[in-house]
Amino acid sequence: MYCNYCGKVIQDDANICAYCGTRVGSVAGRRKLMRPRGDRKIAGVCAGFAEYFDLDVTVVRVIWLIVAIFGGGGFLAYIIAWIVMPEEPEYAPAAPPATVSPTPPQPYRGS
Ligand SMILES: [Zn+2]
Repeated sequence: MYCNYCGKVIQDDANICAYCGTRVGSVAGRRKLMRPRGDRKIAGVCAGFAEYFDLDVTVVRVIWLIVAIFGGGGFLAYIIAWIVMPEEPEYAPAAPPATVSPTPPQPYRGS
């Protein structure tokens, strides 16, 4: 494929152009740290981190458990992440917009 920025031929699976350093390929925008609706055990926090850091979700869960057991702060961190991390939108668009502005709930007008 070609780099959108400098037009040079680059590897098909390349994420960054080797010539100009522009981010190309499937990873167009910065991924958002959010809790996916599928593949969740409790609140999807670990799955969200796994997706964000491109790790196996099981590895994240094991690390989190070890931290929770030995560090003590893991459980609290999970609760905080649960509250802070946004939930993945129900209908995830193919290319999520850079900024998601939540629409306020419409007042009930009756019918
Ligand atoms: Zn380039």
